[in-house]
Amino acid sequence: RTVYVNGQYLPEQEASVSIFDRGFLFADGVYEVTSVLGGKLIDFDGHARRLQRSLGEMEMRAPVERGELLAIHRELVTLNEIEDGLIYLQVTRGAPADRDFVYPDEDVAPTIVLFTQSKPGLADSPAARAGISVITIPDARWGRRDIKTVQLLYPSMGKMAAKKAGADDAWMVEDGQVTEGTSNNAYIVKNGAIITRQLSTEILHGITRAAVLRLAREAQMTVEERGFTPDEAREADEAFVTSASAFVMPVVKIDGVALGEGTPGPVARRLREIYLEEALKIAI
Ligand code: PMP
Repeated sequence: RTVYVNGQYLPEQEASVSIFDRGFLFADGVYEVTSVLGGKLIDFDGHARRLQRSLGEMEMRAPVERGELLAIHRELVTLNEIEDGLIYLQVTRGAPADRDFVYPDEDVAPTIVLFTQSKPGLADSPAARAGISVITIPDARWGRRDIKTVQLLYPSMGKMAAKKAGADDAWMVEDGQVTEGTSNNAYIVKNGAIITRQLSTEILHGITRAAVLRLAREAQMTVEERGFTPDEAREADEAFVTSASAFVMPVVKIDGVALGEGTPGPVARRLREIYLEEALKIAI
């Protein structure tokens, strides 16, 4: 693979960052993931805007402006011949001369790294046809989950807990209500209404979530932005998750309890279809 690091396109084996990089020492960084379908970027603007917001909340400066960021994304798609796949963008507060809790001076440039993952048939995964299973676990993350930081240890532990339990993913629960999945936003469907937790600092403001809720409302579907309990979820008609890499992914089992027929429900299937159609239309 060819990757991008601090202004250069390099073979991945030759790309490196400092051992004093604050991303490595303090998880002091943010990231974005943008999907590629048919060689085009899905909702690049949404991801660029959220990156800007994450950087602002962290009091970090942008390493490159929007136009250049788009050009880098496109160049990596071309160089790596990505038809369907993902582009990861990682930005950290850079590498000062030595380890120090205090933020470095302005003259220390942020570190920026981008790399691609090729995923042929990304929009047509077997998982989307069968649906996935989730378990529920406590949400033990920090309090600013609206910032897309690189602190992914707890979500990673959640995925491992799911794997050990024979499930695909975990939904995290705080004060009795589901916050979100380890790497996606969580939804249930009851009597036709789409229910998902309201935006706050407790969850990531998913770019896919925003698009899916807009499309659902345009299709005259009922949307309720509120928390729900694991009990309510296990008694729901359907469930699903959304993310840039999974789009709309049906959930058919929660804590070992099958929902409805145990197969992807009509609302999740319809939303996946509508979302993919719209995503391809606005892809750049
Ligand atoms: N919540 C969390 C915790 C995530 O990691 C992600 C994926 N980045 C999402 C939600 C979904 O966000 P998006 O639709 O922007 O990918």
